[in-house]
Amino acid sequence: MNNFKKFFLSKILRRKYYRTGKCKACGKCCTQIYVKHYKHVIQDEKEFEKLQYLHRFYTYLKVIGKDDIGLIFECQNLDPETHKCKIHRTRPGICRRYPQEELFSMGGALSDDCGYKMEPIISFEEVLEKSKKNSRFR
Ligand code: SF4
Ligand code: SF4
Repeated sequence: MNNFKKFFLSKILRRKYYRTGKCKACGKCCTQIYVKHYKHVIQDEKEFEKLQYLHRFYTYLKVIGKDDIGLIFECQNLDPETHKCKIHRTRPGICRRYPQEELFSMGGALSDDCGYKMEPIISFEEVLEKSKKNSRFR
């Protein structure tokens, strides 16, 4: 990644990761979904019902379980046989932008065989180098 892009993502957009790779259309990210609203993950079905008035994406989801993170949803647009999205051309922006780093802050993770990877914008080596430089001036 060039320095300008790195600067833009990390300093302007305050991102820590950027996406590489390509979707393999396996459909795994359309199941086992957590929903984050402001700073918390939705735990309660009544609260979720209110969210359904806010965005059409929420109307596609149905609860399939709950764990210690929150309610777990599955999207009803996922074709159970082909594992393809039934509304691929008109899917919401949140699906087009997946995965984003917010996924990690919700306790989620990419499936092992997802075609995308989230790479740190500033590599571990760069962080180490920066911290060495700073310590020289102390
Ligand atoms: S709308 Fe399509 S891409 Fe988005 S979660 Fe549902 S099945 Fe997946
Ligand atoms: S899990 Fe990854 S590869 Fe599979 S559909 Fe989602 S984004 Fe694409």
